[in-house]
Amino acid sequence: MSTSAAAHPTQERLAALRDRLPADGIAFVTDLIDVRWLTGLQSSNALVAVSADAAWLLTDFRYLTAADEAAVDGLEIRIGSDLLGAAAEIAKESGLPKVFLPKEKVTVGEDAKLADLLGDGIERVPSPRYVDALRAVKTEAEVTAIAAAQELADAAFREAILERGIIGRTEREVALDLEFTMRRLGAEAISFDSIIAAGAHGALPHAHPRDVAIPKGELVVIDWGAQLDGYCSDCTRTVATGPVDEKREQVHALVRAAQDASLSAIMPGASGRAVDELARTLIADAGHGDHFGHGLGHGVGLEVHEGPNLSPRSQSTLEVGHIVTVEPGVYLPGEFGVRVEELVAVTPIGPRILTSLPREAAAVS
Ligand code: ZN
Ligand code: ZN
Repeated sequence: MSTSAAAHPTQERLAALRDRLPADGIAFVTDLIDVRWLTGLQSSNALVAVSADAAWLLTDFRYLTAADEAAVDGLEIRIGSDLLGAAAEIAKESGLPKVFLPKEKVTVGEDAKLADLLGDGIERVPSPRYVDALRAVKTEAEVTAIAAAQELADAAFREAILERGIIGRTEREVALDLEFTMRRLGAEAISFDSIIAAGAHGALPHAHPRDVAIPKGELVVIDWGAQLDGYCSDCTRTVATGPVDEKREQVHALVRAAQDASLSAIMPGASGRAVDELARTLIADAGHGDHFGHGLGHGVGLEVHEGPNLSPRSQSTLEVGHIVTVEPGVYLPGEFGVRVEELVAVTPIGPRILTSLPREAAAVS
């Protein structure tokens, strides 16, 4: 029922959250990224409370100025040091019988404190993670921001990997170079610790870069991302340091074919499970069913892992505005690993790929 012409993103987002909330309670938003997405406030200590007809932004004195900048009609700012205490007061003032707490986003300690503060009169109700579902659907401005982060990450890859080469440098040196290059090109942060994993080390999906020189004639898994204006990118390429044997070439081609199969199914209405299954079946049919042990992909936004997800257990259905990764992999313990990851936006006519780098294991010096 978003019929009002709420111009400000904060008002639109609060209205969208309200549309999902039962009317007999007040929702506490405690996750700081959720708070940022709702209000624009970047704070290490903040909370948003939302009822059917009002909303409050609570933070401490250090964020007085930033909170003022986040102020819009319909959002009351309260500054103090005890945010949970202030939120409990708001719940009591509202006269509503319930407080909704997003599942898995409230710590045991916070819950115990709230139980104390709210007393018997107000019920604490674990709620769906409403803000997560809203955050998953990106506005055009958000898609643009994520595409810009990916473009920057692509440029850093061209410079640090393709131009400077990686043979003989250690995985750690290459990771630092890639990360420094992203920062120099304007990234405010990296979106996660880079993976640079050569040979058998690449068979670990979450390998940490080592002080080991990258050899010739091997596959190297490179997974990296930039953060720009709060939004993350995420991409993986598996490059070859010179010619590799036929087995490595075949597995690389298989992973790309699996990715193509899933990419072709990225459409509004597609289930996260069905999209995952296409790549998984292809990999299994090639005899590597046991070598693809992670989900196919995840949403990307203010966080590098958010909804929706593409996996055998996914309950997500793709919608226009979702941004997801499609990242099949084959990992052969003791030998090598291959992962190729594309970042795509779901549009009415299918996937829009935000990554501009070739996927082939183009030889890198
Ligand atoms: Zn990645
Ligand atoms: Zn990813």
